[in-house]
This record gives sequence, C-alpha cells and structure tokens, in this order.
Amino acid sequence: MVLGFARSPMLYFSTNRNSPKVTFREAVLKGQPDDRGLYFPEKIPQLSTGFLTNLDQKSQEEIAFEVIRPYVVGSIPDDILGRICAETVNFPFPLVSVSERIYALELFHGPTLAFKDVGARFMSRCLGYFSRGLPTKTIVVAATSGDTGGAVAAGFSAVENVEVLILYPKGKVSRIQELQLTTHTGVTALEVDGSFDDCQALAKAVLGDTELRSKVGLTSANSINVARWLPQQFYYFYALRQWDGEPPTISVPSGNFGNLAAGLTANGSGLPVKKFLAACNANDVVPRFLRTGKYEAAAVKHTLSNAMDVGDPSNFVRVIEILGDRLHFCLEAFSISDKATSETIREVYQKYKYILDPHGAVGYRVLADHLDRHAAEKGIFLETAHPIKFDAVSDILRVAVDVPSSINDLLARKKTKICIGAVYEELKEIVLSLL
Ligand SMILES: *Cc1c(COP(=O)(O)O)cnc(C)c1O
Repeated sequence: MVLGFARSPMLYFSTNRNSPKVTFREAVLKGQPDDRGLYFPEKIPQLSTGFLTNLDQKSQEEIAFEVIRPYVVGSIPDDILGRICAETVNFPFPLVSVSERIYALELFHGPTLAFKDVGARFMSRCLGYFSRGLPTKTIVVAATSGDTGGAVAAGFSAVENVEVLILYPKGKVSRIQELQLTTHTGVTALEVDGSFDDCQALAKAVLGDTELRSKVGLTSANSINVARWLPQQFYYFYALRQWDGEPPTISVPSGNFGNLAAGLTANGSGLPVKKFLAACNANDVVPRFLRTGKYEAAAVKHTLSNAMDVGDPSNFVRVIEILGDRLHFCLEAFSISDKATSETIREVYQKYKYILDPHGAVGYRVLADHLDRHAAEKGIFLETAHPIKFDAVSDILRVAVDVPSSINDLLARKKTKICIGAVYEELKEIVLSLL
C-alpha cells in the first residue's frame, strides 16, 4: 500500500498488473480492466488529523466530499462532486446501541432498505455526469439475485442519457424485491425464465458483444466498479462520527468483500479502527483461507443471508492489495451457520427487543463471540439491510416486522417487466430497441 497526499489526479491500476493505468472517469466507464483484474487506486490518500478528530462537527455530506475527493480529482469538478455527495447521502446512518458493548450501524435507511443504495446512487450520478457529452447513450447492465438490482434501479432511474437493464430470475426474488426492480422509469426489468447464473451469463454476453459495443456505451453496475466500491468508505466515518472512546472493533457481514475492503481503505486513510472482523455465512472461502493459507473458490451454498451467498468473492483481491502481509494482523474471519443465525435473531429480540435481519445477525454473532473473548472491548456491527426485506425474520420471531413507509408507497405502484427466456438473441433484440 502506497500512502500519499493526492492532489493530482488519482490513477487506478489493475490488480492483475497487465492493463494500462486509467483515471477515475475511465475506470468508471470501463468497469473492469481487460486483464480481468480489478481497478485499485495508486495511492491511499491520508486525511488530516484535524478532519479525523472533528468528524462529529461535520455533516454527512461534508465527510463524503472530503473522503471521496482525492479519488476523483481531475475527473469531476468540486461543485459537481458536492452535489453528487449531497444526493448520495441524503438519509441517516444511525449508530444504535443494542446492548452495553454492542452497537448497530444501521445502513438500511435508504430508498431500497439495504446498504447498496449508497454505492448505486453515487455511481449513477458519476455516470450521468460522464455520459452527458457522449454521442451515444450508456446502458448499465445488472444481473441480480435481489438486492443489487433494486439499489441500481432506484439509483439510476431518471439519470439522463443512461438506460438501465436489470436481469432477475423468475420466481426467485422476494415480493418486495420484485417491486423495487419493476417500478422505476428509465429501467427495463427483464424477468428471465432461468436461474441467477443464467442472468449473469446473459449480462456477460451483452457486455462482451462487440457489435453492441460499437453502437452504445455498455457498463456493469456491480461492486467491482470503483464508483460503487469507494463510497462505501463513508459508513465507517459515519460510525466513528457517532462513537466515543477507544477505537472500535467492526464486524462486517461479507459476501463479495467490497464493503469490508472499503472499511480497510478508510482505515488506511487514518480512520482509527481496532480490528475488522469478516462475518460470513456458510460460504466460508475467506475464513478457510485465513486458517489454511489456501484460497479455494467453492460452489455457492444457499443461506438465510442470501446477499452473502458468494463462492468466489470478487473484491477479496482488494483486501489482499490493501493489507498485504498485515492480513492476519488486521483481519479475522468467521463463518456462521443458518442455525446460529436464526438463534441469534431470536436471542437478540428476546434480550434487547432489537430485530436483526439475517445479514446483520451474522455480523452480530461474530462480534458478540469476539467480545466474549475480549472483555475490555466494545464494538460495532454493520446492519446491512432492513428486516422487512426477508420473510424469514417474521417466521423466526413470530412477530410482524414494522413496515417502513417507503414500502407502502411501493405496494401502490404498477409493475412493468418483460419476460424472456434465458436466450441471448431475445435479450439482444431488447437492447437494440433501447438505442
Ligand atoms: C451485498 C450485501 C452484503 C455483502 O456485501 P459485500 O460488499 O458483497 O461483502 C451484505 N448484506 C447485504 C444486505 C447485502 O445486500
């Protein structure tokens, strides 16, 4: 990791080191380097002590601006960036005490009730700015098993000169998730008669179609895009802004490890954190890697915390890039079973009347077990989604979860979708009709 006070434009290199360095703008428009690595900033900017010790006197918007600015200078002017930040973080990120030593950073107060809203909102606005002068539209393609698609649809809806294409598997997303996918203008929701893997294969086929590429800008909106990845650092600053005392241990529910890699980046910029805990479900590639030193991708196991069902976490290379040989010193990783997840949801509700969602429950369990071994510490877990998104929660607790008002609005809207088979020709015709 190289440290620096970046005031000249940040360049991004490929973690596979076999593609040219690019600016923020190029990294956003391209998504992924041709050598199939991930873009990574050449320097981790250092924030001033004055900024870090006075977080509580700054607004969310000001923090977002200061944190992200070194990564985008040269690609986005300050006044535009200020507006993008204000629009990205216009909802609260409260740190809530669950018990005396355990705090939840609630990241589910955005429009689609999961933490991916921040990255999606930030990226959509960057892309809107970058594609304004372009001769052709930009089409954003996203395959989703549920949460990503909703955040992308809400975040990108009504961004000028950008069309969004969401692919989701028929019958495999929840009722609320489907409403979040199918009720936005400027978003084409495609219900694919197939699996999530089919959707991903179709999305890849669009992105790799050279004929389409010659006619239109194409990019993907998954968390490998730097504009979705980097703004996730904000959460950790917002946590510390509401924190008193010794640096906390932070437990991060992890699937693709983008969120955790963002936390480590914030820490690399000077944000004081005692330790990061990676909280995984039964998909335990990373916990096994830290134990054995062997990285072995595995077939996906389906769990209650389905947004973390990942067999080969795409952002883990960024974790390695940041930590290098400090990996074992700075990070511990644990795997939590579905049984322990349900028990945790039940226990925390009975003891504290706090309703966890299955992802937050995995984070809570890992943190609580850690604090049992470290009696002097206090910690934070990230509560990454609202429990209403997952029917399992009310089944486990046998109580009705309060419905946020945004969901009531959703229920009143009309769904618009196009049903297709898992056949590329059908999809291509639809893409061509968007041009
Ligand atoms: C995407 C997601 C995660 C996992 O985040 P990563 O950055 O992929 O590790 C955790 N919880 C929820 C609710 C999610 O939607």
